[in-house]
Amino acid sequence: MMKRATRKFWQIAFAAILLVVPGFGQSKLPNVVVLATGGTIAGAASSDVQAAYTSGQVGVDQLIAAVPQAKKLATLRGEQISNIGSQDMNDEVWLKLARRVNELAAMPDVEGIVITHGTDTIEETAYFLNLVVKTKKPVVMTAAMRPSTALSADGPLNFYNAVAVAANQAAGGRGVLVVINDWVHGAASLTKTSTTAVQTFLSPLRLIGTVAYGDAEFYRGPVGRNTLDSEFSLDGVSALPRVDIIEAYENMDGKLIDAAAAAGDKGIVIAGVGNGNMTQAALAALAEVSKKGIVCVRSSRVVTGRVGRNVEVDDDKLGLIASEDLSPQKARVLLRLALLKQRSLADLQRIFQEY
Ligand code: ASP
Repeated sequence: MMKRATRKFWQIAFAAILLVVPGFGQSKLPNVVVLATGGTIAGAASSDVQAAYTSGQVGVDQLIAAVPQAKKLATLRGEQISNIGSQDMNDEVWLKLARRVNELAAMPDVEGIVITHGTDTIEETAYFLNLVVKTKKPVVMTAAMRPSTALSADGPLNFYNAVAVAANQAAGGRGVLVVINDWVHGAASLTKTSTTAVQTFLSPLRLIGTVAYGDAEFYRGPVGRNTLDSEFSLDGVSALPRVDIIEAYENMDGKLIDAAAAAGDKGIVIAGVGNGNMTQAALAALAEVSKKGIVCVRSSRVVTGRVGRNVEVDDDKLGLIASEDLSPQKARVLLRLALLKQRSLADLQRIFQEY
């Protein structure tokens, strides 16, 4: 048995160490969970200088082990949700991923979540999670344009920066974020603009911040309602309604619109020309299917700018919805969630104005 005086001495000595050694006794790093879904960040090629490669080859543990520097930012553990190229992203993975993010975010010992994903559809998955994840904790997606085996692969630094942002409490409450190529994007605003360039992602509406070797600076909040402020939830949802996107072009007729209706679409998004415009024939077909209860949203194939209601198209007369700031692919995500319940056209238009 330690004598009372000796015990007292050691208690005081220990307390003194806590006071004088910075960080000692409070060295606990934030717990960040990494959910891997695949993509080029987990891709591999047979040489470090070739264009051909396969997405989703590297598992989550290998991905984490490849960036040992990230372990100084957070205590990391990984889970494999899927290992696919994001061109194959599907509702099953979306529902599984969203549910897991909600479960993890509700755990008191989880401070942040990183999701690795392919770049092809990251903007859609980010926006979907932004609408159905219920947390103010940082949920940060990342990706890469070059496979893990490439000369000058961009994945490791993107991953490192994503962990830094997920471990940073200042990242919370800004909706789902996408950290790539030193920029911090909001889910509603980012879009892929180049098929191959490392600097492919832009946020025409607004960039949320930057991150340089883990040092993050946040400028502003996200565009539109999100996460805790979103009215959408996946409680009791096992399937999402079918919505297709049809692009407008010169001499367009109504045949694809009729085919989408015949395929069982509950909604159709048109990637219109200009301000969500299309031929008179396409508008007539849309007005017809909209009378049958299929919700038709006019978006635009143009990368920036808003699609306004009743500008060149009489939406009131034809029973159509204007997508406002949303690209066709994001308008489709929002419409699928909105159609989980019966709504009036006025309520649907309100949703496109608010999210
Ligand atoms: N096709 C790949 C994917 O989206 C591209 C990438 O990740 O950069 O999974």
